[in-house]
Amino acid sequence: MHEFSRKEAQAMQLDTPVQYLKNVGPRTAERFARLGIRTVADLLAHYPRRYIDYSNAGGVAAAPFDTETVVRAFVYAKEPMRRLPGGRTLQRVQAGDGDAALSLAWFNNPYAADKLEVGQEYWFQGRVTGTLTRREMANPLVRTQAQVTKAPLEPVYPQTEGLPSWRISQAVTAALEAVGQLEEPLPPALLTKYRLPGRAEAVRAIHRPRSAEEAAGARRRLIFEELLTLQLGVNLMKSRGAGQTGARMGRVDLEPLWRSLPFAPTGAQRRAAGEIAADLRGPAPMNRLLQGDVGSGKTLVAAAAVYIAARSGWQSALMAPTEILAAQHARSLQAMLGPLGVQVALLTGGMKAAPRRQTLKAIAEGQADLVVGTHAVIGAGVEFARLGLAIVDEQHRFGVRQRGLLAAKADSPHLLVMSATPIPRTLGLLIYGDLDISILDELPPGRKPVKTYYTTSIKRRDMYGFLNKQIEAGHQVYVVCPLIEQGENSGEEMQAAADYRDKVAAPLLPGRRIGLLHGRMKPKEKAAVMDAFKAGELDVLVSTTVIEVGVDVPNATVMVIENAERYGLSALHQLRGRVGRGAAESCCILISDHDSESVRERLRFLCSTSDGFAIAKYDLEHRGPGDFFGSRQHGLPVLQIADLMTDTRALYAAQEEAGAILRADPQLQREENQPLARAVEHLFERAEGTMN
Ligand code: ADP
Ligand code: MG
Repeated sequence: MHEFSRKEAQAMQLDTPVQYLKNVGPRTAERFARLGIRTVADLLAHYPRRYIDYSNAGGVAAAPFDTETVVRAFVYAKEPMRRLPGGRTLQRVQAGDGDAALSLAWFNNPYAADKLEVGQEYWFQGRVTGTLTRREMANPLVRTQAQVTKAPLEPVYPQTEGLPSWRISQAVTAALEAVGQLEEPLPPALLTKYRLPGRAEAVRAIHRPRSAEEAAGARRRLIFEELLTLQLGVNLMKSRGAGQTGARMGRVDLEPLWRSLPFAPTGAQRRAAGEIAADLRGPAPMNRLLQGDVGSGKTLVAAAAVYIAARSGWQSALMAPTEILAAQHARSLQAMLGPLGVQVALLTGGMKAAPRRQTLKAIAEGQADLVVGTHAVIGAGVEFARLGLAIVDEQHRFGVRQRGLLAAKADSPHLLVMSATPIPRTLGLLIYGDLDISILDELPPGRKPVKTYYTTSIKRRDMYGFLNKQIEAGHQVYVVCPLIEQGENSGEEMQAAADYRDKVAAPLLPGRRIGLLHGRMKPKEKAAVMDAFKAGELDVLVSTTVIEVGVDVPNATVMVIENAERYGLSALHQLRGRVGRGAAESCCILISDHDSESVRERLRFLCSTSDGFAIAKYDLEHRGPGDFFGSRQHGLPVLQIADLMTDTRALYAAQEEAGAILRADPQLQREENQPLARAVEHLFERAEGTMN
C-alpha cells in the first residue's frame, strides 16, 4: 500500500494518477482506466451524466408511477427480514406521509433498513409501482435531511463494471479536495461577456451543484471552454498551411481527358472539375470537399484535378483508407491518365525493398506525376520533388493532424477531400473553416437503383438458392460476414470469416469458387484475392468490412450483409454501393435476426431509399451524433461535454471568439494566453491517444 507523505499530498497535481487518491488503489485505478480515466484531471473531466434531484421532492400521493422519482416519507414500521424461496432475502418497511402510504422493499440487501429510524422522515429515490391503494418502491436509495441539504442534486456518473457511480463520486470528492487552485484558461473579458463562472467554480459546481441553476451555469461554461479550445486548436493547425500556396497552376483544357473516356462525363462531374480548376489557378491553397453519393463518379473528378496539376508541372498525391482501395485507384487512374502521358505510381506498405526504393526515387526526382497510396504517402521517408495537390478519398478517416502534416510536406499544397458522407454545414465549418464544397448530385446515366431486401436467417437457404442462380447467370456475389461480439481482435475476425465460408457459404454453394478476405491478411494476399474477384476467377467473395468503401467490380450484382443490425445506415449504404455498378439489375440483402422495433425500422428505411443524404440524416437523428462524428471519423478530439450537433449557439460564439483571439495573437504565444495554449495542447494530446 502506498503511504502518502505530506509532501506528496501537497504535490497532488492534475496529472497525478488516480491511484494516489484517497480510497483508490491499483485495482480501482484499473477500472478507472477502462473509462479512459488515468489522471486526476481525467477524473475531474468525467462529468455526471445527470443528477438525482432531492431538492424538491414531493409527497407520496403526487409521485408518478413507473418513473424515476424522489418522494419524502416518514418511516412507520420495519418488518422482520424474510427469506424467499430460492434464498433471496426480503426486507420490508412501511412508510407514508399522511396522504398516502408507501411500502418499501429491499431484495438481497439485509442491512438496508438498519439505519432507518421509525418516526423519521427520509427521501426515497426509485420507481413507484403497484396501485393507487397500494404503492410500492423496490430497492430505493435513501437520503436523510442532512444529506439532502449538503447535496441536493446527486451526480450520476457514467459507470463501468466494478465501478458504480457512487464509487466514482467518492473519488471525485477526494480529487476536488486534493487538487489546489485550478488554472483559468479563459480570458477574464470572456467570463464577463458570457457571464460564465470561473473554471474552479465550474468544476466544483458540475460535480457538486447546490442548485439546478448552478449546475446549468457550470455546464455552459465547460461547454464553451471545450468548444473554444477545439476551435483554437483546429485554427492553429489550419493556419500552418494557410496564406499563399506555392503551387499556382495554369489554365488547362480538360477536353482531351473527357474525349479519351469510354463515356461522357456527367454535368455534375464537369461542374465540379470546373470549380476545382478555378481553385487551382488561384493564389490560396484549395480547401475543397467533393461530396457525392457512392457511384457518382468522384474518381473521374479527381483524375481531372490530377491532370490539371500534371499539365501545370505539379505532382499529386492521392490517399485512400486501405491498400486495396489504393491499388484500385492506381489502376483506374492509370487507365484514365496513363494514355494522356501522366505517370502514375503506387506506393504500398507491402512493396519489396528494391521496387520501393525505385518508386521513392521517381517521386523525389519528379518522374511520378501521381502517387497513390494510404496515409503513409505523406509520412516520413517520402519526399516529393514538387507536390502541388493532395487528394484524400473518404475524408472521414483523415484527421486534422494529418492535414497539418500535409501542409508541412510541401509549400501549402491544394487539398481535395472526397466523401460519400454528407457532413452538416456547422461541422464542415468547424473542421475545415473556409471550406468549399462541390457536390455530385447526378449519377452516371443508366444506373438502376439497387433493390434492397431485409430478411431473417430462416430464409438464408432460400437466399443462397438465389445466389446460386445469379452465379449461374455469370454474375458475382459479395457476402459481408457476421461480426463477432467480443474483443474484435483481428484473429477472431479471421476465424469468423473463415468459419462462415467453410460452414455456411461452401455447403450451400457446392462447386462454386469462394474467396475470403479479412483484416488479418497481408496487403499482398488481399490484393491477390481482390484481383481474382475482379478478374472473374471467383464467384463469391466472403469478407469482413474491409470492402466497405470504394471497391469497384461492375459484374458483382448481389451484396449480402449478415448481422446487418451491427452497422450504421451510412455504412450499409456504402456496402450496398459496391453493387449496381454495371448494366445488370442488382440487389442487396440485409440479414438480421434482431427483433427490436428500432432495428427493424432502420433496416426498412434503408430498403425504401437510395438517397445517401437522407440516409445520413436518418443515422444522425436515430443513432446520435456520437457514432457519426466520433473522432475516428473526423479526426477531431473526443469532446467530454459539448455536443457539436446541439450546442450550435455555443459553437458559433466559440468560433467568433477563437477568431478574435488568434487575430490578436496568431500563434497563441502571448503570456496571458499560455493557459489557453496548454488547454489546446491537452485536448489534442488526448485525441492522439484515442485515434487508432
Ligand atoms: P464513387 O463516387 O463512388 O467513388 P467511382 O468514381 O468509383 O464512384 O465511379 C463508379 C463507377 O462509375 C466506375 O465504374 C466509373 O468508371 C463509372 N463512371 C464514372 N463516371 C461515369 C460517367 N460519367 N458515365 C458512366 N460511368 C461513369
Ligand atoms: Mg470512390
